[in-house]
Amino acid sequence: MSVPEHGWIRSRLRFAQWALTNEKSSGPPIHGTECVTCGETSQGADDWEGPQTWALRHAGQTGHTLFRGTVTSYFRASMLEVL
Ligand SMILES: [Zn+2]
Repeated sequence: MSVPEHGWIRSRLRFAQWALTNEKSSGPPIHGTECVTCGETSQGADDWEGPQTWALRHAGQTGHTLFRGTVTSYFRASMLEVL
């Protein structure tokens, strides 16, 4: 496709309605904690217990006291209807 003299490229757009749903086939949500001071991270787990225990242990060993909690999950986008 060449760029016309006026610098615009035309394209055909299709409008559709999309929705997100939880993608369970990729596994359950993964919980984790990360030390904001040094970047060390806990192992991922199915709930908060392990990552929070790791954070408390890390605080006791290093004196680092600020942690970031993360939950990683997957979503699937599906087209509902072409508008
Ligand atoms: Zn740390």
